[in-house]
Amino acid sequence: MLQLKDITKSYKTGEFTQVALDKVSLNFRESEFVAILGQSGSGKTTLLNVIGGLDQYDSGELIINGQSTKNFQDGEWDAYRNNSVGFIFQSYNLISHLSIVDNVEMGMTLSGVPAAEKNKKAMEVLEKVGLKDHVHKKPNQLSGGQMQRVAIARALANNPDIILADEPTGALDSETSEQIMDLIKTIAEDKLVIMVTHNPELAEQYADRVIKFSDGKAVSDSNPLANQKLTSNYKLKKTSMSFLTALKLSGKNIATKKWRTGLTAFASSIGIIGIALILSLSNGFDKQISSYETGALSTFPITISQTAMNVDMTQNPSFGGTDLTAYTEEKALFPYDPTENSILHNNVLSTEYMDYLEKIDPALIDGISYTRTVNMNMLKLDGDKATTLNKGNLSFSSYPSKHGDAAGSYLEQYYDLLEGSFPTEMTDLVLIVDEYNRLDNASLDALGIKHDTDRVDFNDLIGYELKLIKNDDYYVKNGEQFTVNGNVSNLIDMYNSDKATTLKIVGVIRGQEESKMSTLPAGVAYSDELATYFIEDAKNSEIVKAQQEADYNVITGELLSQDATGGSAMAGMRPGAMPAGGMASAMSAGSNVAPTKDEMLATLGATEIPASISLYPVDFGAKEKITTYLDEWNKDLETENKVVYTDMAAIVTRISGGIMDGITMVLVAFAAISLVVSLIMIGIITYISVMERTKEIGVLRALGARKKDITRVFNAETFIIGACSGLLGIGVTYLLTFPVNAILYNLTELSNVAQLNPIHALSLGIISVVLTMIGGFIPAKMAAKKDPVTALRSE
Ligand code: ADP
Ligand code: MG
Repeated sequence: MLQLKDITKSYKTGEFTQVALDKVSLNFRESEFVAILGQSGSGKTTLLNVIGGLDQYDSGELIINGQSTKNFQDGEWDAYRNNSVGFIFQSYNLISHLSIVDNVEMGMTLSGVPAAEKNKKAMEVLEKVGLKDHVHKKPNQLSGGQMQRVAIARALANNPDIILADEPTGALDSETSEQIMDLIKTIAEDKLVIMVTHNPELAEQYADRVIKFSDGKAVSDSNPLANQKLTSNYKLKKTSMSFLTALKLSGKNIATKKWRTGLTAFASSIGIIGIALILSLSNGFDKQISSYETGALSTFPITISQTAMNVDMTQNPSFGGTDLTAYTEEKALFPYDPTENSILHNNVLSTEYMDYLEKIDPALIDGISYTRTVNMNMLKLDGDKATTLNKGNLSFSSYPSKHGDAAGSYLEQYYDLLEGSFPTEMTDLVLIVDEYNRLDNASLDALGIKHDTDRVDFNDLIGYELKLIKNDDYYVKNGEQFTVNGNVSNLIDMYNSDKATTLKIVGVIRGQEESKMSTLPAGVAYSDELATYFIEDAKNSEIVKAQQEADYNVITGELLSQDATGGSAMAGMRPGAMPAGGMASAMSAGSNVAPTKDEMLATLGATEIPASISLYPVDFGAKEKITTYLDEWNKDLETENKVVYTDMAAIVTRISGGIMDGITMVLVAFAAISLVVSLIMIGIITYISVMERTKEIGVLRALGARKKDITRVFNAETFIIGACSGLLGIGVTYLLTFPVNAILYNLTELSNVAQLNPIHALSLGIISVVLTMIGGFIPAKMAAKKDPVTALRSE
């Protein structure tokens, strides 16, 4: 049945060649008990390994059932070991983390025998070897003799033709040895058993045939068999380990080292935790920002003021067409005209432009609010006298009207109320102080507020009254000109007249810290309703009608300037005034150039051109459409005629966006480092595991496992670790989002910032598995390459 013809096998160690088998020719019967005797080092084990297909012979021929093995490929050798051979080792070589039944079933598992059949077969052979009552124990709960019985059962389980036993009783006491020998003897009744022993008595007592070995040669044979010619009827059933089997095998192995696996998984999950946290944070921040954008930020209006910051301040100045560089090394001076590149730009808010604004698609805006600087006639009381308020010394302008269905008024949104209340009536005024609660002396003098002491109590300011006088009550016609109706130094009658409108300071307010929107300068602010109320009346007043007809100033009698740009619309402007409102009246300060008619009409309160306009977009998308619409107006205009707008929200988001990007990058770098570390760590851990499981690799190979299957076993192990670390990482991240959110809430008042996206969680789980498998890939390949003979020899 089994024929060896001139089998030679030698080992090379450096220069030295050790001949282990020297032209061995032997024939074996289908069923006989052959004992191989010989001194240590005579080549007995090598013979068994060659017969068992664990080791390859150098020359000669090995024929099984008439089939030459000369041209066997790796897969055929694997199948041969699995189908035709059963190994019994001196040191049992059971897989310690598998149960006895699993050990016995392993050969059948590799050749794909169905579970039920496998189990039935395993129980059968275990009963045969006398271990029926011990099947649920682990190998290390058995005695040496019992372990060897398990090994015998395993060898028998797949019903092979040949049983190879290498000193099976070498580690057992004599009584147990005899029992094992009896068992092997019964097996040999219908199988070929080749047993190596160094014990001649045992050989004589049990074997049918004794072959003596010396120096790699068979020197005697008690019952040789003549050479026969056999016809081949040999069929091999290919082996393969399913990934599920590999998982089960590695799972059971891992179960024996829970702590190490747990710690490894934890350590390698740190990278996953890092990335998952970053993702959940940036995910949350993105959500927060977009809701902030559509919410809070869209309440930031696009502002168009009579003065605006110049459009692109980031742009470098240029000289003769080429851009200048900052801190240049160039040895040249570049003369320039500061007005050309001035930061402040004067917007010409013409009636046409106002009409253009009115035509914005109403679906895009929540509302438009106006800040006006109307030259109203205002009286203050000074003891028992009343005089005209000199607004040239005082910031006196309207605050933006409440727009659309905004949550609160402009003042409520961006200002802190220090005393009194926010205005509710058209006639309510507010006093605005700067961040140090200051207001300049000139303003206080202009208002007529006594301030001999260092401080003025807020309480003394609340309820302070001024009177608003309509044009027709204030001016009286005197020939071709108009004069103030009464004695300019004491207008107490006008003050006390019931035609005067009483205005009252109802509150003291201050711009909120860090609010970019509280741009009204310190001074007095009135409602837009009051402004339009005065304007509507003024337009129909006698003096305005007269001024519209006349080509001279109806108050002074001077001729008006014809030049449209004459008295500069910006004449009274204080440099550096903030864009949203806050300009002193364009006409108030005595400009030494004669005013134009338009300017004169404005002085008389008959103009609707606002100091500043705020457009409130419905959302971010609308904001873009609005700016496109505004840009359209400027398209073909000269720089000085362009109307420049300020988009506060764009400035805010640009800043926050940059910070976010920076933070994300730093965190990602950290997480990436920890992922690389865990990759290396997994490699080391798998390498250690391969070292520890070397014996198991040998056993699996002896049972017919392919190289591929060994790779699969370790891939399964890294898969489990990867899956564990992925799950752990995601679980820990999920739990971490709670304290992280609590901390962020305390710091920023933003709630639920960290949110783990399930899709991110899933992909990170997969990434964790893939990365750990990459880390374990090289060690797994190394495991597959291990020589089964060396693996079995290892301790
Ligand atoms: P036995 O089992 O009879 O004690 P072996 O078959 O194990 O002997 O060894 C036969 C000879 O081959 C010995 O001299 C041994 O040193 C040598 N040998 C066995 N395996 C190797 C190997 N992997 N590398 C080098 N020499 C080996
Ligand atoms: Mg040996």
